[in-house]
Amino acid sequence: MRLYRCKCKKQKIKGFHKKSIWPSIVLFFMYLVFCFLLVMSFISVFGVYIISSKMDELSDNARHLGRLIEGRMQEEDILDAVSYVSGYLRQENDICVTDGDYHVLLHLGETELPDFHEAGEMRIYEDFSDDEKSSIIPSMEDQVLNNESAFIISIDELWELAMKAPPGKGPEAQGKWLNEIIYSIDYWKAIPVNAQGYHVYYKDSLILMRKDVIYILAVGAIAVIVLMVPVILLFINVLSSIAMQKRMIKLLYLDTITGGKNWVYFVQRCKKIFCRIRNARNTYAMINLHMDRYQDYCACYGNKAGEELLENINGFLQAKTGREETFARFAKADFGLLLKCEGTKQCEQRMKKMLAELTGIKRERRLNYHVGIYMIPPVTNQKDSGLQQRRQIDVDQIYHYATAASENLHGKEGQFIQVFDHQILEEQLWKRKVEDTMEPALLNKEFHIYLQPKYSPLSGKIVGAEALVRWISPTEGLIAPGRFIPIFEENGFITRLDDYMISAVAKLQSEWKLQGKKSIPVSVNVSRANFTKPDLAQHICHLVDSYGADHAVIELEVTESAFFGDKDMLQKIIKELKMYGFHISMDDFGAGYSSLNSLKDLPIDVLKLDMEFFRSKGDETERRGEIVVKETIQLAKNLDMKIVAEGIERREQVDFLAEQGCDMIQGFYYAKPMPVSEFNERVEKES
Ligand code: C2E
Ligand code: MG
Ligand code: MG
Repeated sequence: MRLYRCKCKKQKIKGFHKKSIWPSIVLFFMYLVFCFLLVMSFISVFGVYIISSKMDELSDNARHLGRLIEGRMQEEDILDAVSYVSGYLRQENDICVTDGDYHVLLHLGETELPDFHEAGEMRIYEDFSDDEKSSIIPSMEDQVLNNESAFIISIDELWELAMKAPPGKGPEAQGKWLNEIIYSIDYWKAIPVNAQGYHVYYKDSLILMRKDVIYILAVGAIAVIVLMVPVILLFINVLSSIAMQKRMIKLLYLDTITGGKNWVYFVQRCKKIFCRIRNARNTYAMINLHMDRYQDYCACYGNKAGEELLENINGFLQAKTGREETFARFAKADFGLLLKCEGTKQCEQRMKKMLAELTGIKRERRLNYHVGIYMIPPVTNQKDSGLQQRRQIDVDQIYHYATAASENLHGKEGQFIQVFDHQILEEQLWKRKVEDTMEPALLNKEFHIYLQPKYSPLSGKIVGAEALVRWISPTEGLIAPGRFIPIFEENGFITRLDDYMISAVAKLQSEWKLQGKKSIPVSVNVSRANFTKPDLAQHICHLVDSYGADHAVIELEVTESAFFGDKDMLQKIIKELKMYGFHISMDDFGAGYSSLNSLKDLPIDVLKLDMEFFRSKGDETERRGEIVVKETIQLAKNLDMKIVAEGIERREQVDFLAEQGCDMIQGFYYAKPMPVSEFNERVEKES
């Protein structure tokens, strides 16, 4: 057989989690930092470019002056040449000539002379006031002097510089706002002159004008604008994906029927609750709340009313569950609840109270609920193993256990709450097994007919038998009817089994007839489920006739509980069966139900006293039981019925029944149910 696999990625849906938004957010901030660094490096590179181009200009000036001095030196001595060249200098430029030992030979200008050191190197002449010094970026000083090509300056500082009042030096300072000098630094520079034993220096200024700073800031602003477009887009994208994800999560966890949370949410929430260390000491209960006959409710009041009811239940549960608890609808009218309880008793009490309130939701419509409880004990071993066990709880599995407990309440009148134990699960597994194998078992003839003889207490001879089914399974061995008949009665398969047994009895009777054997009446059980068929009598008649058996030697046992169904139908069928010549017996008379009234209405041939009459429960009850048996036998006789006592195990019981005029005795005292061959041998021996 080909197996079809579901291709849906269930795991992926389960894994869909709020956390997946974080990579986008982290990426966004990383990009923001990257943009910031990029803008800063743009500004730095452009700033360095401006400074170094100014430095180059100053070096060119020095070289130019050197060439002028050298040209003049062909006609004059060096001091005159320098004096001549000083005429080309600007007002702020000083010039100075020293001999080889750095003794000043000539100084033209207003500023004091610098402190000379080794050849070619000079320290800056500090002619600034303290205020002016503090506005100079310290690193800039050295970098300008060493002609390095990098300096770092913040945008704030640049902005401050741009807006600052100018030091008021230089010719450019006059008039134009853009050309105002906002920063100037003076320094001495050696002029390259080819004159042995002399050094020539001149003082110049590195000037930063407002426009330079504005250019640098403009470059920064352009870079910011260019980079901010993707940043804004990315930001919008992150925001919309957060919103989208929130909507998706809401949808993913939404139960469209109740408007509350769905099962995916429930499972995840339970896992979270189990994972929390602070919940480890709490006892929890997984609960299945099942609304009985929800389908009937919908059929009666419509689907909309059904859904409205589920919505109401959802609202009710919402109000009744606490912070570390959760619930959700599982399917149809089944809800799963995870409740914090102190113990099984307290949990049952709480559920009882809840059920009382729930039934009040629609007081006019009778609603029944079943509750299955699976207890989750607190973690006693706080170390790894205990907590680990809690964390590994399979939520679906324990909910399945809770459901098994509530399903076990089916057919149990007046019982609404059931706590799970493993026997329930075993019963369910057995039920599933029986249901899976019953059809093939019937085809493979695994059901066998056993006969339990009925004896006359007077003669001590076999006067009848009851056909009882035995399931001899190749895997399970012999299975007693008590283990499968109730399951068949629940799922309706019992009618098929009854047909099979009636046919088997008919076949047996016709075989006995053919073999010329004494015909012993055999009774066969007909379950109450059959009495819903209006043509049951014709059907049984047809089954028996197909084997050519006499109707008179077949007795049909109807359990007492069948007399509480559709009385008219039962009466009609029994009358028809009687017409066809079958005998009818009322099985298990006196077990639970009181069918005395039926005795009056129905033409029953045999009354089978339930074995409970003969189970001794002390002297007093035994004495009272004897009175009831005595009177019942009398009643049956008065109504022209034969009486069979079932479950007779002791000699005294036989004697008592014989004394009371009981017609037949069926019980282990005489014989247990046996295979047909054994029964035949017993009959032969007797004759
Ligand atoms: P039942 O029809 O009342 O059958 C009598 C049950 O009492 C049989 O159990 C029998 O073995 C048991 N029994 C007889 N004498 C004694 C005794 O002295 N002591 C004790 N402890 N038990 C005694 P069994 O065969 O296990 O059948 C149980 C029930 O299963 C039957 O009760 C009947 O209701 C049902 N059943 C059995 N076979 C069939 C069948 O073919 N069709 C239907 N519909 N029901 C069947
Ligand atoms: Mg019976
Ligand atoms: Mg019985």
